[in-house]
Amino acid sequence: MLSPEDKSHWIKNLVTNSGFDYCGISAARFLEEEAPHLENWLCNSFHGEMSYMERNIDKRLDPRQLVPGAKSVITLMKNYYQASAQTEIKSSRYAFGLDYHEVIKEKMRALITTMQAEWGMFEHRSFVDSAPVLERAWARNSGLGWVGKNSMLIHPKAGSNYFLAVIILDIELRYDNPLAKDYCGSCQRCIDACPTDAIVSPKVVDARKCISYLSIELKGEMPTNAPAYDSWVFGCDVCNDVCPWNRFAKQHQEPSFLPLNTINEWTKADWEALSEESFTTLFKHSPIKRSKWNGLQRNLRHILKEKQ
Ligand code: SF4
Ligand code: SF4
Repeated sequence: MLSPEDKSHWIKNLVTNSGFDYCGISAARFLEEEAPHLENWLCNSFHGEMSYMERNIDKRLDPRQLVPGAKSVITLMKNYYQASAQTEIKSSRYAFGLDYHEVIKEKMRALITTMQAEWGMFEHRSFVDSAPVLERAWARNSGLGWVGKNSMLIHPKAGSNYFLAVIILDIELRYDNPLAKDYCGSCQRCIDACPTDAIVSPKVVDARKCISYLSIELKGEMPTNAPAYDSWVFGCDVCNDVCPWNRFAKQHQEPSFLPLNTINEWTKADWEALSEESFTTLFKHSPIKRSKWNGLQRNLRHILKEKQ
């Protein structure tokens, strides 16, 4: 029978052949150190209209509430970095290709099938930015990096242009140690560069001011007190792009994330000419469908107003 050490070693070899770039493993436990931060963030209403953040807090903080008998949390990182030629109107680079939820879920399913073929059946659940799981906390606990002042998980060798995914399972494994410290140091480029001053203090983002929230999560009209910003029609890459730890970001090797419909080259005229019918067809399998046609139009109105 394989020891927890052997299993961890085996899974780490497996993930790099399964379409992921990095893997870290933690014991499943109550995230004691996260609880006050989460509570504070919610009390300040920094989550805006994302009321789902107020629910399932117990589950968010303790994976054993999600998978009874859970022993381990495996965190996976997948690179989505690609250069962008966008100038007039931009969407976040993570949204150029196929919907990462679908792509990563598929890879996780295959990974779990291989694990179960080797170890036998086990209880588990897997998550990609879709349920009450604090992925960045698990990534940090697993030694994959630290949470930067921009609130992103930063891998010391690879930066922060990565999707995070988590598998909670009832198998005991060997656990990784967190990094001894974070490496933001005295840098605060992300805070200074944020177009809307959304990073209100290190590691704390007021979603109500964050372009990613305003352009994707917010439903309905743009609030009259929404901050002014231009160019970003879907998401925002500024606090990733200015981070020195992304200086050596490498092009991803995932065909599914290559730009659909050459969206990375679209001009203002292309975005303005997009009909609702074309939106539905072109973005059917893209993360951009999340904003819906009306949301995209609202975003365009907001940024074009700011450009006048
Ligand atoms: S995503 Fe953009 S708006 Fe949001 S915190 Fe980062 S730089 Fe600011
Ligand atoms: S830009 Fe500087 S402060 Fe912000 S996350 Fe990167 S290293 Fe940390």
